[in-house]
Formats: sequence, structure tokens, C-alpha cells
Amino acid sequence: MKPRFHALKGVEDILPPDTYLWRDIERKAMQAFGPCGFEEIKIPIIEHTELFLRSIGETTDIVEKEMYTFTDKGGRSVTLRPEGTAPVVRAYVEHNLATRPSPQKFFYRGPMFRYERPQKGRQRQFYQIGVEAFGVAEPGIDAEVIAMLIDFLEKAGLSSSLSLELNSIGCDVCRPDYKAKLREYFGGRLSELCPDCARRFEQNPLRILDCKVERCAALKQDAPLITDSLCEACRTHFDELKNLLGNLGIDYKLNPRMVRGLDYYTRTTFEVTTNLLGAQNAVAAGGRYDKLVEEFGGPPTPAIGFAAGTERLAALLQSTLKAPSPSLFIATLGAEASREALKMAVSLRRKGIWTEIGYGGASLKSQLRKADRTGAVYVFIIGEDELRERKAKWKNLKDGSSGEVRLEDAEGFIQNAGQRLA
Ligand code: ATP
Ligand code: MG
Repeated sequence: MKPRFHALKGVEDILPPDTYLWRDIERKAMQAFGPCGFEEIKIPIIEHTELFLRSIGETTDIVEKEMYTFTDKGGRSVTLRPEGTAPVVRAYVEHNLATRPSPQKFFYRGPMFRYERPQKGRQRQFYQIGVEAFGVAEPGIDAEVIAMLIDFLEKAGLSSSLSLELNSIGCDVCRPDYKAKLREYFGGRLSELCPDCARRFEQNPLRILDCKVERCAALKQDAPLITDSLCEACRTHFDELKNLLGNLGIDYKLNPRMVRGLDYYTRTTFEVTTNLLGAQNAVAAGGRYDKLVEEFGGPPTPAIGFAAGTERLAALLQSTLKAPSPSLFIATLGAEASREALKMAVSLRRKGIWTEIGYGGASLKSQLRKADRTGAVYVFIIGEDELRERKAKWKNLKDGSSGEVRLEDAEGFIQNAGQRLA
């Protein structure tokens, strides 16, 4: 057998039992987000290209190299979303959500697309769970959102291996000053920068700090720190956030070099990393974007959010995977017993009990082998003799016990067994 088709490079199928783990991660996210008032928003997978150019920034890796952009049949340039914030902000402005009571808080989940070099923990289609909170300027919401992220990750079963990195990248007032300092610093080293960064030097020198090319990474070691250039308001905001996190008992590491790969951030940026995933060590990341709503045509609205990578969470939580298996497998011999099994299965399933039937006209032995492979706990065997006597033989595949049960009592037997197992 040779498959005629393969999934695209960097695009993966998520199969059971892993899908149980994914569902669990999303459930834990919702358990953490719900009490904080975050409600689900479903945003499109495809948007006008312009939306991402304007928000993520033309000199970022995402826009320069990674977007799935094409012309649709109507001649429009469209892009598969590389991230969720820009679409949520577009929706916020387009539906006039600013007129609803503030703060408006949303979460989303779903696939994102970036044309990256596929490797472990880095796909071209990957999933994110993200949140956005609109309308609060105070650092309290920064602390809330970060606390909620940590709470989610702990609920999901991660905590010991994680570390939270924190920075402030300033605002319109102080960043020009910082950019000037960066130009001064990198100006004398232009020939040593990679070609992308040489260009970024003019357009947006902050991007040099985010460059993954080795020689640029080495050069930035001694670059001036943004935290030394923050204006009074940004410094106060950052100091208060650090206080609040301290009060909440949330550990963090300051990382004054973390600028993040998207241009829309202002002030607070943060990243959660792990030491268990090798090179792809970022599990979640986010920050403030106080200007984006206005830039998209909405009223001045401060905002903050984060996104977590579901594949990376799933990789970290792989060992906690507990997949359910059928409660009952009904093995039958003969057409009449098959009909009886179907009736019983349909009725049990209506009660929420996972029941499988041994199809295939196979021998009892092969049906039992199959039952074992499904991981079923109980097997019923209904042959011609059993049918005549209106009973089934039962076997518990986990502890080896066995016996007989009347067909009319069979449902109750399995239901009670289910309770015993739970
Ligand atoms: P990285 O530094 O790993 O490229 P990033 O800074 O580009 O991450 P963000 O855009 O902030 O990532 O996205 C938030 C999270 O989404 C990341 O922390 C990561 O867990 C996940 N993520 C981003 N890109 C990918 C990808 N190509 N494949 C899998 N997960 C990804
Ligand atoms: Mg990236």
C-alpha cells in the first residue's frame, strides 16, 4: 500500500488519542479563562493581507517571510492568518464592541499559518489558544492576564518547568529615543549585520534585537537596553506591574532584550518558556498593544493579550494523556445475536456508554482479540445458546473475572460496572 497523497510539509494531522489531550488542554484553558470573564470569539482563518501588513509590521519575519498570501479569484490579496490578535482587533472595531461595557475580554482557539522551516515544535499550520482584553489602561489588567495564563498552564499540569520573562518596550513617547540609541549603537557595526537587519536598521532597528541570525544575536549583546529609555509613564506602569506580580506570588525574570516578533506591542511584553522542548522553547507569549484599535479606526482603546502554542503544550503534556476506551464490546455469533447486540448497543450509547460491536462475521476468538485491542473493559458474548436462554456471558478483560447475565439485566450490569469503574 502506498499513499497517493500526503499532507503538506509542516502541516500535521492530529490523531486520536492525541486529540483527547488537545481537548483537555482547551478545556483547561476555558476553565481558567471563564472566571476571568473571557468569552469565546471565532475569527476567520482568512483576512485581507493589508490587515497583517499594517499591524504585525512590514519589517517583521512574519510579514517578510512567513505569510501564506495569495490572490483570490476576485483579485484580492488575502492571507491565511499567521496570528489571532489582528483579526480580533478588526472584529472589535468592525462590530463596534467598544460600545459594550468595558472591559471586553475574548479568547480564541484555532489554526495559524506561517511559512517557517518545519522542525520539532515548529509547524506551518499550528494551533494557538489566545486571549485579548480591551479597554483597561492600568497595569492591573496586565497582572490579571499574566496570572490567568499561569493559572491555565498550572491547571493543564505544567508549572515546574516553566519560566515567565517580562519586559516593557515603551511607547510612542519613549521608543523614538530608544531607536535613536539603537541606531547609534548598530550604526558603527552595519557591515556586521545580516542583510535583513541592515535594512531593518533604517526602518525599525528594534527588529534587530529579535533577529535569530547568529552574528546579529552576538552583536546585540552590548546594545542599549530599552528599560533604560522608558519614559516616566511607562516606567511607572512597569514598576506597578512588577509590584502586582510580586503581590500575587508570580515569579518572573526580567528580560530587557525581549522585543517580540510583532510591531504592534507597546509597554508590557512577556513570554513563557520551558527548558523541556529544546530549541522551540516558547510556550506562550503576549503583551500590550495600546495603539492598535485606534490604528484600525476604532476609538483609543488600550489592550493586552497573549497566545499559547497548542502543539508545544501537547508535547509537554504527552505523558499525562489518558485516552478513554470502550466500556463494553459485544461479541456475537450468528445473525440473530448480531441484531440483539445492535439493539443493546444503541440503547447503551443513548445512555452515554461507549459500546462496540464485533462485526465482520469473524470467529469468537478474533472478536475477543479485537475487543482486547480496543481496550474495552467488558466483553459480552452472545451466541446461539446464550440467545436461546436470553443471557450473555460476560468477561472483564482487566481483571479476568467472568460470569453470566440475563439480557434484560445486561444494561443495568454495565451501567453499574461503569459506576464501579469511575
Ligand atoms: P517562536 O519564537 O517560537 O517563533 P513566536 O514569538 O513567533 O515564537 P508568537 O507569535 O508569539 O510566537 O506565538 C505565540 C506562541 O505560538 C509561541 O510561544 C509558540 O508556542 C506558538 N508558535 C508560534 N509559531 C509556531 C509554529 N510555527 N509552530 C508551532 N507553534 C508556534
Ligand atoms: Mg516565530
